[in-house]
Amino acid sequence: MQSTETTWTIVIHGGAGAMQLMSSARERSYRRALAAALRAGAAPLAGGGEALAAVIAAVRSMEDSAVFNAGPGSCLDRRGEIEADAAVMLGSDLSIGAVGAVPGVGNAVELAEAVRRHSPHCMLSGSGALAFARELGLELAPAPPSPERLKQYRRRLAAEGGDAQPPGADSLTRLGGTHETGDTVGAVARDRAGRLAVATSTGGLWLKQPGRVGDSPIPGAGFWAEDGLVACTATGTGEFIMRAALCHALRERVAAGEPLRKAAAGALRRLSERFGPGKAGLIAVDAAGNLAWPFDTEGMGRAALWSGAEGPVVEVWPVDRERLLGGGRE
Ligand code: ASP
Repeated sequence: MQSTETTWTIVIHGGAGAMQLMSSARERSYRRALAAALRAGAAPLAGGGEALAAVIAAVRSMEDSAVFNAGPGSCLDRRGEIEADAAVMLGSDLSIGAVGAVPGVGNAVELAEAVRRHSPHCMLSGSGALAFARELGLELAPAPPSPERLKQYRRRLAAEGGDAQPPGADSLTRLGGTHETGDTVGAVARDRAGRLAVATSTGGLWLKQPGRVGDSPIPGAGFWAEDGLVACTATGTGEFIMRAALCHALRERVAAGEPLRKAAAGALRRLSERFGPGKAGLIAVDAAGNLAWPFDTEGMGRAALWSGAEGPVVEVWPVDRERLLGGGRE
């Protein structure tokens, strides 16, 4: 490994889930969009920029692509509308900006960053978050659902018998115990100065109850960043990630001295043991720039690049035949 004084690392994910139904055309566009987001995030780091700028750029790129469950590509709630969750956290001062259940914005990560920078609060939700953006004069691109998502919405609703009523408390278990949606986005980075940061964005779960907030904007559940320790973000069924406090569990293991990969695998294993497999994945980078990306779902879109790497790594499956180059860093 290189000297940690000069290294940078970025890791991104495009969601964990039951992905066996992904067509090969979709897989190609999904991999291309991951690679483009990785480039967008790596550019500031390579130029000596900050981890925070890198993770926001990567997540913005994935939101704009409409390929993932974020921005206009978000999955839709029971009414057929988008409500986004997003978050940003800076490891040097533990500052957090998060938004929950915000209707129809293209770049929810921008709004989360505005909350981090300009609000005394850590999280704003729904119409209050939009009002805050208006007060700041923040121009947020609107995100009407993409035609593809509307088609999927109609199919899914029909499969449920056209019933747009609130789901029962057992509906997460009815999904067969596996996380089906995938495609949520997140990014973690370590910059040359050793600063850590994380950003997340998602439309949440298909046919969710309007007003539902998942793990992605909840610190300690869907994300954490703390200089000297770890930056991480989770993906999967938010209700289980929250109940396992997944990112907090990883942070505690790293703080106790466990190497990153062991800590990440251990934190995820505890979730799987408690709630069953097929629920989640996570990406993480530690203070030295090592990375980890365990998941217990069929697949998890993920990509990484670091200073001195031969090239980007882009993977979807547990053993990825199409892996571009290189491998993990520990
Ligand atoms: N964790 C997200 C949520 O529950 C969904 C996902 O990661 O796909 O909102």
